Amino acid sequence: MIQLFDPKAEYQDLKTEIDSAIAKTVSSGEFILGKNVYKLEQKIAKFVGVKYAISCASGTDALVIALGACGIKPGDEVVTSPFSFFATAEAIARIGAMPVFVDVDEQSYNIDPSEILKKISKKTTAVIPVHLYGTPAQIDEVEKIAKRYGLKIIEDGCQAFGAKFKGKSIGSFGDAGCFSFFPTKNLGAFGDGGMITTNDEKIANLAISLREHGRASSSKYENNLIGYNSRLDEIQAAVLLVKLKYLLKHNRARTRIAEYYKKEIGPFLKYQKQDPASSSAFHLFVVQSKSRNKIMDYLTARGIKTAVYYPKPLHLQKAFKYLGYKKGSMPVTEKISRELFAIPAHPYLSLKEIKYITETIVNFFKK
Ligand SMILES: *Cc1c(COP(=O)(O)O)cnc(C)c1O
Repeated sequence: MIQLFDPKAEYQDLKTEIDSAIAKTVSSGEFILGKNVYKLEQKIAKFVGVKYAISCASGTDALVIALGACGIKPGDEVVTSPFSFFATAEAIARIGAMPVFVDVDEQSYNIDPSEILKKISKKTTAVIPVHLYGTPAQIDEVEKIAKRYGLKIIEDGCQAFGAKFKGKSIGSFGDAGCFSFFPTKNLGAFGDGGMITTNDEKIANLAISLREHGRASSSKYENNLIGYNSRLDEIQAAVLLVKLKYLLKHNRARTRIAEYYKKEIGPFLKYQKQDPASSSAFHLFVVQSKSRNKIMDYLTARGIKTAVYYPKPLHLQKAFKYLGYKKGSMPVTEKISRELFAIPAHPYLSLKEIKYITETIVNFFKK
């Protein structure tokens, strides 16, 4: 079976370096918020082009902590996309604020800036654009709206590490950017991990405090805020430091595969549209068809794994029933949640596999 992700192949490729980094960490006796973590934070700040990067225990925590550090309070309204992983809206609800969903653009599957304007109220204090599948949202338009209405921007870049918009890295646009190191993400750890990026010293300091029980910077046993235990550990940071060196190479491989698919499959299947001013991290290559189930079955029978991201929009999730959305309230999101599916596009696919996947899809349409 050709898989959607291949963390085993990546490990085999980088085994010598990773094994030695892990062994060194274990024998150092330093396990949480140590040398590796601080080095990783510096490297990622530089990579993203921001002043500060603050690690934490997951992408979800990065969102929760970033919202808190940006001063978003219970009762506030935070505008976001209903077409994302659950954690995006969950983080908003977790801090006591209210997720307000805005339908997505039919071509890019990302938040539609013109829809944001319709949902802004007196209580709106922030917007979370999601860079879905690694493809940047229309962040310049989101910035204009945020500026006009005095909203904070918290980027959900969990799927978009390494992506750029007009030459600037995702994670450097908003007041804060959030990344996930879940093992299958473009920069994946051997467990959970996350990162908050920001240029704002105050937000950075609040995030540093919140991730460790709201502690004061001066002392471990002075607590100024109610925070979290959300730290990155040294072993994960050691693994991430090795993988970060190969991130651009891997993202380039993903891009080459995506370009090949667009050319070969494009005449038969609609795919996620990228703004020419952006470069996607191509976390996933996602195509759209009304015959989704038939194509997926056809590919499965021929040894090609596919998957649906995401079959159920957030505004229709049971956990968000209290928000009062109904079927039909987000028509674009609901339509694409029935039609999209991802095909394998990870950097360890062989040319033979890429050709086989392409031919199989083309054969489906020609038969
Ligand atoms: C993965 C992901 C998250 C959550 O990250 P975790 O590290 O799994 O907590 C949030 N938002 C999006 C868009 C994601 O893809």
